[in-house]
Amino acid sequence: MSIQRSETIFLNGEWKPWDSATVHVAAHGLHYGSCAFEGIRAYETPHGTSVFRLREHVERLVDSARILRMTPLDYSTDELEQLCIEAVTRNGLDSCYIRPFFYRGAGALGLNPMDSPVEFALFAVEWGRYLGAEAIEQGVDVAISSWRRFSPSTASPLGKIGGQYVTNSFVSIEARENGFAEGIMLDQDGMVCEGAGENIFIVLDGTLITNHLASSILGGITRDSVLQIARDLDVPVSLQPISRDMLYVCDEMFMTGTAAEVSPVRSVDRIAVGAGSRGPITEALQTRFFDTVEGRAEDTHGWLTPVPKPAPAAAT
Ligand code: PMP
Repeated sequence: MSIQRSETIFLNGEWKPWDSATVHVAAHGLHYGSCAFEGIRAYETPHGTSVFRLREHVERLVDSARILRMTPLDYSTDELEQLCIEAVTRNGLDSCYIRPFFYRGAGALGLNPMDSPVEFALFAVEWGRYLGAEAIEQGVDVAISSWRRFSPSTASPLGKIGGQYVTNSFVSIEARENGFAEGIMLDQDGMVCEGAGENIFIVLDGTLITNHLASSILGGITRDSVLQIARDLDVPVSLQPISRDMLYVCDEMFMTGTAAEVSPVRSVDRIAVGAGSRGPITEALQTRFFDTVEGRAEDTHGWLTPVPKPAPAAAT
């Protein structure tokens, strides 16, 4: 899916046209992946456009920057939130994807990042369904990847850090080359971690199961939202390790992520999950999720930040 250009990008304190928002080729972040980034969705609702869980995304961005030793940052969380909103309004977008990121610019060539400046950029673009429009109802086919998720002793699973995504790209390439929508990474002991850009949920004997934050996963904000929705709907929840073969015998499975939203999984390694179609608990959670983000259900958790409508042009 090629990127949909938008008009203006925020780069180091200035709004610039899309083509002028460029980074120096000597940037540390480009060579060594020193980049803390976020992916945030805004949804069109009957009450106008709203950003989903903006505060939590900005907080995770700051956490990733902290792990990369980039803090203190030049922007407060309030300023970062405002800039995300401004990226939507300035580009006249409704439903869109917002990508703010801190990276190390050009300063020193060595690995030590501390002599390269921390720079900040932000853009917002239109983006459709990540795993395809049918995926939301029909579900997707996934496979266990031959690439393992790194452990917290190798890198920082809880950080959304550019360089770490080389592994995830390998997972994504392998899955698509083999005809699957996504690959699932196991850890070094063979336990389930997550997809290249999604957390994993299964339903086993009526209980919704996902793995614990310390199981080498990114702490997904969609994951957290689904856990809260499950509690609202009185679905029993368990945070526990998930073994590979639990994926083969579970009744339902789905993946969550800002890009993938809530996507049912209909097969793993060509073994049908349950009846091979979206299960009832998945459907109930998914329906409440979309009703909330798209403004049909009451926003009981305060997850939506309204984007102010641009002021009408003054009459001449
Ligand atoms: N795991 C990884 C590795 C991811 O990149 C993402 C996407 N940010 C997720 C899980 C899901 O996280 P979220 O729901 O916050 O988008």
